Order: sequence, then C-alpha cells, then structure tokens
Amino acid sequence: MRKKNKLKEIDQTMYTLLLREKKRQMQGLELIPSENFVSKAVLEALGSVATNKYSEGYPGRRYYGGNEIIDEIELLAIERLKKLFSAQHANVQPLSGAPANMAAFFALMEPGDKFMALKLDMGGHLTHGHLANFSGKLFKPVHYLLDPKTEMLDYDAIEKLAIEEKPKLILAGYTAYPRAIDFKRIKEIADKVGAYSMADIAHIAGLCCTGVHENPVPYFDIITTTTHKTLRGPRGAAIMCKEEYAKSVDKAVFPFLQGGPHENVIAAKAVAFKEASTEKFKEYAKQIVKNSRALADELIALGFRLVSGGTDNHLLLVDLTNKKISGGEAQNVLEKAKIYCNKNAIPYDKRSLFDPSGIRLGTPALTTRGMKENEMREIASLIARVLAKPQSGANIKEVAKEVQQLCQSFPFY
Ligand SMILES: *Cc1c(COP(=O)(O)O)cnc(C)c1O
Repeated sequence: MRKKNKLKEIDQTMYTLLLREKKRQMQGLELIPSENFVSKAVLEALGSVATNKYSEGYPGRRYYGGNEIIDEIELLAIERLKKLFSAQHANVQPLSGAPANMAAFFALMEPGDKFMALKLDMGGHLTHGHLANFSGKLFKPVHYLLDPKTEMLDYDAIEKLAIEEKPKLILAGYTAYPRAIDFKRIKEIADKVGAYSMADIAHIAGLCCTGVHENPVPYFDIITTTTHKTLRGPRGAAIMCKEEYAKSVDKAVFPFLQGGPHENVIAAKAVAFKEASTEKFKEYAKQIVKNSRALADELIALGFRLVSGGTDNHLLLVDLTNKKISGGEAQNVLEKAKIYCNKNAIPYDKRSLFDPSGIRLGTPALTTRGMKENEMREIASLIARVLAKPQSGANIKEVAKEVQQLCQSFPFY
C-alpha cells in the first residue's frame, strides 16, 4: 500500500496511467493467447530491490562484488526450472523470447548456417527466419509449410525437406499453431539428418511442464521459452539444453548477447516456476485447454470456420473469409467492445500480412481469472454479435456493457 502511495506522491501522471491500464485489463476480455495475468507474488518480486544489482556473469562467477544473495536467487530460479521441465541445464538470463532464440542460434550455429522452421504466415515466429529479423539476415532459413488441406504439420513433408536440405538445425514450436506438436517425430527427423533439434515452446510452456502437451525438454538438444505466456511468469525468457551444450548456451547469452541480467525479473521467474510446479497449476493448464475447446466448439456452432477445424491447445485461429470482414477490422471492432484479440494470417492467406484473413484467440488469461466453459460459450456469442453488425455503434455498446458485467464477476487483482 505504501509503495503505491509513494508513486502517487512522486509521479501522479504515471500513477494515473498505471491505474488506467490496470482497469483496462480488468474490465475487458483478454483473449490474446500470448498474454496472461501474473500473481501478486510475482509482481512483488518484480518490483523488488533485486533490480538495483549488477551481476554480469553467472552464480559463483560474477564480475561485480556483493552478489552472494543474488547468486542464491538465480540458482533457485535455475534449479526450479530444471526440475519443472526435467532439463539438464537451464539459463534464466534471457531478457525475452527473441534474444533467447538469438542466443540459442549462436550457441549451436555459425552465421550462414542453414536451419529449418515453419514459415511466419503459417504460424512461425519472426525469429524463425523472417528476412526482417536477425534469423533471416544472418542465417539461412529453409521453411516448411502446413498441409494445405488439413492446415496441420505434415511430418512426411518435413522429413523429405530435411533430407534434401540437410539443415544444421530443425526448429519446432510456434506462435499461431492450434494443434499438438509431435515433438518425438521432429526429433527423429533431426536425428536422421544429423541436425540439432530445437524447440521454441514460448506459447505452450505452461502446457508442457504440466503434461497437458508433450514436453520436448528431456530429449531435445535445445529449448527456448518465454516466461510470460502460458507459464504465467514475468516478461522474460529462458533456455534449456543438454549438458553438452551448457557452456555454449551460457556464453551465447553472456557475454555474446547480453550485459547485466535483470535479477528482479529472475526472482519473479523463480516465483512463477514455484507456482507452476503445483497441483493447482496443473488444473489451470487443463482448464486452459478445456476452455479453448469450448470456445472453439461454440464458434463453430455459430458459423465460424476455424483453421484446422479446432484446437488441442490454448489458442484458436478463426478464418473470417466467410464473414466478409478482415482480421484487422475484426480486431478493431472487437476492441471497441473491450474484447481483445489480434489479427493473424491463416495458412495460405490470400490477404496481406498487415490485414490478414484471421484473428487469433486464446484462453490463458481468462482462465487465470477463473472463467470456465460456460463463460467461453458466452464470449463466443458476444464475439459473433459484434462481428455480425460491425458498423452498428449501438450493437457494440450493448455488447461492451455485457462484457463489463462478465468481467465484474471475475475480479482478479
Ligand atoms: C512470443 C514468442 C517469441 C518471442 O518472445 P518475445 O518475448 O516477444 O521476444 C519467440 N518465439 C515464439 C514461438 C513466440 O511465440
């Protein structure tokens, strides 16, 4: 309480902005699949004095003095993460998912090396070889695609491409893929062509560590993850790998890519890893998928086409082609009703990436608030009502009112 008052006293403008943002988060329906609400315990660690400390290096090997407690904090985060995912080695310093991927690439590859990943407009990430990104500029990406009929991964095609291209590394793990990933098959393919196996579980980490989705960590060479999506920790990332790559990974994070680690964030990661190891979190992860399926089923019943016909995880991709509205327009009009989602390309999209044919919806944040299948069905119908009459201000207003009522029944912070 005192801390809050201090901010109000020193900087009324920022205090008001943060209060307004908190209200926005609580009074709207957060359906962006990469977002979540961290616990108050995580927030406390994030806002702690650990932010004051310089600790370049690693526990026991720092370039600054006064790190004995910081070492304990970072070691706790490392040990908890290793246990959570059954990892041989973990680095908790990456500042976010994109730099974690950069460090992972440089740990195992040289500039110019060839790697395979899913194309961005099929569900991949910018760091998986897009030309505007380091991954496409400094390395040589070869992209695999989704099966145009099923809109799912085609493992035989991936295997064929891997045999032809002989990449140094094969990357699995996506940003907008609503289906389960057969990590075992990807690992087999990588082994067959002598490539490193890399998993980027940024989106599904919270499902992997609870067994709700297959966990690739024990047998993949290298695994990157963000900590702020389904894992429900602070904004940040981590890298896990086999013991034999531990040194390369640590060197790639520091001193190659980063300077001083953000130990307040690492403290908050440690808290989140503890929370994620509980039975309660396992129930949470299961509920995320139940909610996702309920949302998907109801949207289908209301006449929406879902990419791949449904979902196995926390997200779904809605193809709006038959609804005569673009993804960008849908995102904007839904935002007016306080329903937050993001425009997203669908596989083989005929529209541009800047205003694609789809929207991406996810359930991690609303599940954290305690919403269940009934609320998901209600939300599906609210979305349908907005998109049925996107021009009608009165219609949007009516839905916005119902959104607010729904949110009030699920207070969080
Ligand atoms: C979110 C995401 C990232 C990037 O994370 P940032 O923290 O935004 O840098 C990387 N890979 C995948 C698959 C993601 O979904």
